[in-house]
Amino acid sequence: MSAPSTGQVLLAAPRGYCAGVDRAVVTVEKALELYGPPVYVRKQIVHNRHVVSTLEKRGAVFVDETQEVPEGATVVFSAHGVAPVVHEEAARLRLKTIDATCPLVTKVHREAVRFAGDDFDILLIGHEGHEEVVGTAGEAPEHITLVDGPDDVPNVQVRDPEKVVWLSQTTLSVDETMETVRRLRERFPALQDPPSDDICYATQNRQQAVKQMADRCDLVIVVGSRNSSNSVRLVEVALEHGARASYLVDYADEIDDAWLEGVATVGVTSGASVPEVLVRDVLAHLAERGYGDVETITAAEESLLFALPTELRRDLKARSGAEPEQLRHDPAAGHLH
Ligand code: SF4
Repeated sequence: MSAPSTGQVLLAAPRGYCAGVDRAVVTVEKALELYGPPVYVRKQIVHNRHVVSTLEKRGAVFVDETQEVPEGATVVFSAHGVAPVVHEEAARLRLKTIDATCPLVTKVHREAVRFAGDDFDILLIGHEGHEEVVGTAGEAPEHITLVDGPDDVPNVQVRDPEKVVWLSQTTLSVDETMETVRRLRERFPALQDPPSDDICYATQNRQQAVKQMADRCDLVIVVGSRNSSNSVRLVEVALEHGARASYLVDYADEIDDAWLEGVATVGVTSGASVPEVLVRDVLAHLAERGYGDVETITAAEESLLFALPTELRRDLKARSGAEPEQLRHDPAAGHLH
């Protein structure tokens, strides 16, 4: 291995857990404590291998579809949100549901319902098949057309070009989405913008931090899982903004020593579904290889907190007689979240 002994790490801030992921993970943890295992979770609660396997060990059972949950059992809906038909199905099966959909995803669902109610054609920018997009599109399938990036724009058909609005998945690349919107507006000049940003604060801040450090990095390591949209976007952003190489890893031991050859500066960040413990493992791994000097690059301060889902708060209060504590989003926490 030829890594220099004075190599530097640029550590992005913010990185890792966002308020929506924190809330979703704590929801499953609290549900396990309160109701006892098994607690069923529809889809991965958040898109991270480590989080899912840790919760599995504690008694969470992840299923793909609601029909796999035994009648009358408790099921948590993941942070990515579900279509109304999933709620209807759960009611038919008499499941006890806890909805951990991120409030910022719910906001996009509400926008979809409102614009569909006003009979707009809604152009939903997002990745085909992603759970969040499936959930949002399910709010108004007859009004929503998926636009999967700038190259998909020529395929879009609308009923009335004067009554078109765009919405988006929360975890997209900001720059690529703006390019998609630019091309859509060329075709539909009356295209309306969403009432507020659909790409969430966490996605934007994590991309901004990577943009600020990428051109100083020979290599950017993004901690995150392959199915995590916002993590994959961070690799793309790093490469687009000057990093010579960038790789996604779930765990430190996936870092190939060959990646470090001739590398003076390594950027490190993590997706919004990644617990900080995994980043610390990466920093320790790099320190052992001569990259012990760590400089933090801060793009934004985050302090957003979300209350736990109403149904869970009600049951926690019934048990303890007091309102559950507000969630604390603590990026330095050593445990799962
Ligand atoms: S990435 Fe954004 S939308 Fe997704 S859970 Fe986190 S805060 Fe919510």
